[in-house]
Amino acid sequence: QAKLAGKNRYYLFDAEQDRNMRSHHESLEHISEALKADQFVLYYQPKVNMRTGKVLGVEALIRWQHPEQGLLAPAHFLPVIEDHPLAVNVGNWVLDTALQQIRNWQQQGVSLLVSVNICARQLQQPDFVHLLERLLQSYPDISAELLELEILETSTLGDLAQISNTLEACRALGVSISLDDFGTGYSSLTYLKRLPTNVIKIDQSFIRDILQDSEDLAILDGVLSLAGAFGRKVIAEGVETLQHGDTLLRIGCDIAQGYGIAKPMPAANILTWVATWQPEPHWADLRRLSRE
Ligand code: C2E
Ligand code: MG
Ligand code: MG
Ligand code: MG
Repeated sequence: QAKLAGKNRYYLFDAEQDRNMRSHHESLEHISEALKADQFVLYYQPKVNMRTGKVLGVEALIRWQHPEQGLLAPAHFLPVIEDHPLAVNVGNWVLDTALQQIRNWQQQGVSLLVSVNICARQLQQPDFVHLLERLLQSYPDISAELLELEILETSTLGDLAQISNTLEACRALGVSISLDDFGTGYSSLTYLKRLPTNVIKIDQSFIRDILQDSEDLAILDGVLSLAGAFGRKVIAEGVETLQHGDTLLRIGCDIAQGYGIAKPMPAANILTWVATWQPEPHWADLRRLSRE
């Protein structure tokens, strides 16, 4: 009887695995159809210098305008495609759409830096740089300096020498590079040292508790020194409240992105936001306290 139960269990497990595989396959198909049906949209979230009040740019964040389920966040569909060639197709759509948007804003008189998230699979394509170059050439009226690539630190980047060459070649085109979610991977310091990046984005998990957690504050302080020594700019992600802004300014981190500044919004809202945003009046006076 025990044997039978075991057999049954095995059978059930198999059936479930089969169902999972089938639903994975269906999800892939749905995403592929969504791309063809033009159901993806980019939202944009501002990055600002809290001290000077300057808007430095916006990050493009993909959403799926699902006909039945409404607006879906990337966590609902990007994991499905991350190990599939479809990730490259979606990535190319994002790059092209972001460049169109840069041109659109430029035609309205505003040059805005747009950061685009790039997954490891895209970056590992042997012809990625060539593809990027061709794409930039198809927008001759916009400067490559208005495009930034955010490379996810946690992604398994593979051969670092090769990725480093790829990033160097992107920079030679004029595109800047940002290291996303810094501190969450196993190789943060190696990536900092070996990858030619302009900016590091401190992951929101280190920012969330800085108001009460002195250890997170110490990490932040250390990362700021380290980034300075490597000539990298630092941006704090996940700045949820104005008090977070106060603390960041006091520790010498002026550049921020987060719900406390602005949530991601449709492209159509960005120029009004940029024209009307004002930093907290007292932010201009907050300076880094001296480190003893
Ligand atoms: P990310 O690149 O680190 O983007 C920041 C994420 O944090 C965004 O989530 C953003 O909406 C959210 N966020 C911003 N400010 C705050 C805050 O103050 N508090 C909290 N709790 N969250 C905040 P989103 O849009 O859901 O994107 C999640 C991740 O999906 C992104 O993390 C990025 O890794 C990936 N992703 C988004 N768009 C794309 C894309 O076009 N291509 C690729 N390859 N990945 C993308
Ligand atoms: Mg990002
Ligand atoms: Mg991030
Ligand atoms: Mg993230």
